Amino acid sequence: MSDLSNYEKKRNLQQSKEPKATKRASSSKFVIQKHDASHLHYDFLIAVDGVYKSWAIPKGPSISTKHKRLAVQVEDHPLSYGNFEGVIPKGEYGAGTVMVWDRGTYRNLKKETSMKQCLKNGRIEIFLNGKILKGGFALVRFREKNWLLIKMKDDYASDSKNLLTSNPKSVKSGKTMSQIQKEKS
Ligand code: MN
Repeated sequence: MSDLSNYEKKRNLQQSKEPKATKRASSSKFVIQKHDASHLHYDFLIAVDGVYKSWAIPKGPSISTKHKRLAVQVEDHPLSYGNFEGVIPKGEYGAGTVMVWDRGTYRNLKKETSMKQCLKNGRIEIFLNGKILKGGFALVRFREKNWLLIKMKDDYASDSKNLLTSNPKSVKSGKTMSQIQKEKS
C-alpha cells in the first residue's frame, strides 16, 4: 500500500520547496512500430513491469470510435526493442522493414486497477501521449490472444482523419519505409 500521509506529517510544505504529496498515476512508455513483414502491420508495445507487452495490429490503430481494430497479442519484448528501426534479414523471424511510427508515454485510466491486473482481466484503458496518437484507447480481449483496440470518446477522436496515411515518416529518424529499407540493402 502506498500512503503519503507520513511524508506530509513530517514536513511543512508551505515552508519547504520539496515536492507536494500529491499522488500521480505513473506514466510509462509506449511505442508503435510499422512493420512491413509478410503482411504490413503495426506493433503496439506498452511498457508494463519492465517489459513491453506487445500486440500486432494488422490494420493499424484508428482514431475513429467506430472502428474496432484486431490486436493479436504476441510475445513480450525487451524495453530496448522500442528504439529498434531497421531491416530484419530475409529468413529471420519477422523479416522486413521496421519503423518507429509513434512513441510517447501512457497513463493507466483505471486508476484502481494495476496494469498487470488489467492485462489479466482482459480490459485495458490507457491515455496515450504520443507524437501522433493522443487520448484514450481501450484494449479488450475477446478470445485468447485476440484483443480489440478501440478509440475512446474524447477530443482526440475523429471519424474523418486517417493518421496512418497522414504520418508516413518515422518519429525517430524522419525516414520513410523505403528509405529505411534502402539503407540496409
Ligand atoms: Mn511485427
